[in-house]
Amino acid sequence: MIKEIRTEILCPKCKVPMDYLSETEKTSNNNGKSIKITRYYKCPVCGRRIIDEVLVIKDNNNDIIIESHTNGARKLIEKQKATNLIK
Ligand SMILES: [Zn+2]
Repeated sequence: MIKEIRTEILCPKCKVPMDYLSETEKTSNNNGKSIKITRYYKCPVCGRRIIDEVLVIKDNNNDIIIESHTNGARKLIEKQKATNLIK
């Protein structure tokens, strides 16, 4: 039996599957370099963005610091899964 596993996320407004994209932003100044990676869902219809995860890598010439932030997209997926179970 083949079971479909849904990992896609639907736009809260349009109810269409959102695209999963990532964006890399590099900055550097006198204190060092930093790279910011943003992973997000984007609705192909209305353009709404939901940030899934932000990763910041900072290199201040002595240390490398990695910061990770996760956001509401995961909660939204959990909520949609719960809704599917009820149906
Ligand atoms: Zn939308």
